[in-house]
Amino acid sequence: MSAKISFFNSVERYVDKAAGFTDIPTGLVEQIKVCNLVLQIRFPIRVGDNYQVIEAYRVQHSHHRLPTKGGIRYAESVDQDEVMALASLMTYKCALVDVPFGGAKGGIKINPANYTVEQLQNITRRYTTELIKKNFIGPGIDVPAPDYGTGPREMAWILDTYQAFRHGEIDSIGCVTGKPVTQNGIRGRAEATGRGVFYGLRECISFADDMKKLGLSAGIAGKTMVIQGLGNVGSNTGTISQNEGDVKIIGVAEREGSIYDPNGIDIDKLLAFRQETGSIIGYPGSKHIGGPSAALELECDILVPAALENQITAENADKIKAKIIAEAANGPITADADVILSKKGILVLPDFYINAGGVTVSYFEWLKNLSHHRFGRLENRFHHNAFTGILNKVEEMTGKSVAQRDRDFLTRGGTEVELVNSGLEDTMITAYQQVRETWRQNTGIPDMRTAAFVCSMKKIAGDYVSMGIFP
Ligand code: GLU
Repeated sequence: MSAKISFFNSVERYVDKAAGFTDIPTGLVEQIKVCNLVLQIRFPIRVGDNYQVIEAYRVQHSHHRLPTKGGIRYAESVDQDEVMALASLMTYKCALVDVPFGGAKGGIKINPANYTVEQLQNITRRYTTELIKKNFIGPGIDVPAPDYGTGPREMAWILDTYQAFRHGEIDSIGCVTGKPVTQNGIRGRAEATGRGVFYGLRECISFADDMKKLGLSAGIAGKTMVIQGLGNVGSNTGTISQNEGDVKIIGVAEREGSIYDPNGIDIDKLLAFRQETGSIIGYPGSKHIGGPSAALELECDILVPAALENQITAENADKIKAKIIAEAANGPITADADVILSKKGILVLPDFYINAGGVTVSYFEWLKNLSHHRFGRLENRFHHNAFTGILNKVEEMTGKSVAQRDRDFLTRGGTEVELVNSGLEDTMITAYQQVRETWRQNTGIPDMRTAAFVCSMKKIAGDYVSMGIFP
């Protein structure tokens, strides 16, 4: 086993491995891998009678397309290496799902639970001011979004701070995404990452030949799922998989421990139970099986690590019994563990594919912001009237009438959330098919992660070549 390597080095290792399956020249591979801009920030905030120095970062990994894009996380684990790794994953993620941005990421090294809402607002506004001062934020420069420990509230503070400094800038609302819907956000963004995980899994499991190799039947309905982490991504993956895909959730892990019920855990009820009691432990019918990582080792069809990075390592990879792992978090599997899982024949859907739903819908939000109108507003009524006209004609010609429920379904014009979800569904399906085709055409490629990196790298290299930077 190799010595422990950093998160950023681990991403670089994946890229080097994938480069071997392309004809991209070494110098260009180097340019693709490096971080183009790294901003390290320290600023003081007042806590009670004292001052605290806050450590923060923003990394723009790749300028091959602009603006750069990626979330901001608030976590104690934040350091420069982590932010660089996450920024680089954003580059490969955007390229893979054809979101025309370079990758970026930000991080503030705090545990938000240790601060009041007022202090968090101060920290967020001060961080945004630093980004403005250094020209690290703007609708055409770098566009942040939520990540671990942040959400629509923080994005609203960022927008408000930006607009205070850039008063009158017509596209200022596009300086950040993941905003509350009332603050120029978009419907469907909050659940987009989890919804994307579901669409990606459903597409993957639809291929009977591929599933046969894993000893599974085709079709997501009835498959068993274990989820680690009930934050935004884990909870939405769970509810959508259960309610729209008939998936059976048999295990859940959160910071307080892991629970298991082979008969199925109703995820909506579990979320309500945790809201009420502050814990998943003691959920009726379930068994407490150990700490937060115990659920990872359960036997199941689909394992969804949706918490932080480095959850499946060389230490526990051998004990994983899932058939498919969907990396809903960024970097939950270390590079060493990835090799072990691949040898065990476990299919890993890599993070920068399976969790790309968030940035995809962020892209839709940015488009909405730049176009200054809500999707569906112009054509919704037009389509409704046209479809109603067609149905009326069909009824008239056949002498039969269409039931009201069918009529309502067939004549709807497409609301914002319907359009967003259909764009997301199409994006996740198209990207999966590209990765699958790349893997099938090159049988030497050992795993889906490598195939996905090959797809992304070819697109990024293509941009550099067409810019005339590399011959
Ligand atoms: N933080 C999310 C991610 O890791 C979303 C980024 C975005 O929407 O820009 O993909």
